[in-house]
Amino acid sequence: MPEETQLDKRAMVIVAHPDDAEFSCAGTVATWTDDGWDVHYVIVTDGTAGGGDEATDVGPEARAKLSAMRKEEQRAACAELGVTDITFLDYPDGQIFHTLELRKEIVRLLRAHRPSRVVCMAPVVNWEPQYMIGMYHPDHLAVAETAVAAIYPASQNPWDFPELMMDEGLKPHKVSEIWFVGAPNTNTHVDISCVADRKIASLRAHDSQLGANFERLEKMIRGWMHETGKRHDVEYAEEFHVAKNWRPDPDDFATDSDAELAHQD
Ligand SMILES: [Zn+2]
Repeated sequence: MPEETQLDKRAMVIVAHPDDAEFSCAGTVATWTDDGWDVHYVIVTDGTAGGGDEATDVGPEARAKLSAMRKEEQRAACAELGVTDITFLDYPDGQIFHTLELRKEIVRLLRAHRPSRVVCMAPVVNWEPQYMIGMYHPDHLAVAETAVAAIYPASQNPWDFPELMMDEGLKPHKVSEIWFVGAPNTNTHVDISCVADRKIASLRAHDSQLGANFERLEKMIRGWMHETGKRHDVEYAEEFHVAKNWRPDPDDFATDSDAELAHQD
């Protein structure tokens, strides 16, 4: 299993909507870009369903305007975090399914950009401390499931989507680590105390979504980051479940009786 120092400093964040990444991993992304990592954002939807709840004009022009605004906000958020590469896949907001077409799009991006780390949401719902419906937008779950399927096995398997290699020259690529956000159990934290203000600034950039009551939201976000930080004796932190993409060595799981048998040989 590769050590962190051996990883190529390339990461990809794959999420459904503009602002998803800022809530979940913006602080961590800022620490990575500060450390020289190239971080590429993939936003799957076009953001056309994220207007105000009181809206009465929800027609094509209003949707196009909203999409353009949200992309601009995403670019501004990324600028706060040192991220310059963003791919907008422009799938219709609110209508995401785990399709082979979307899986192939993500495999294409993984093979082209070759990240060692991918950040995505956990493709499961968490019932502790309670089910939070806002976290489990169907697009979030669909994108998470698709991202995992794209990473393994499709991206690393030459036999999956053969046209990507045969026609587009995109060789298989193995992602080393998946950093899951919102997983039922976490095994990694990142101290984001030095970059917490940048995480807040990146959230503030999403004015169309969060501008109305930003002071209250900031208080809540700082509270969450602080609660997470307290678990690790730092001021502010973000937590993940990091899954390494490696095959276990059978020797690591040998039992005492296996060892005795081997000794008898
Ligand atoms: Zn979202």
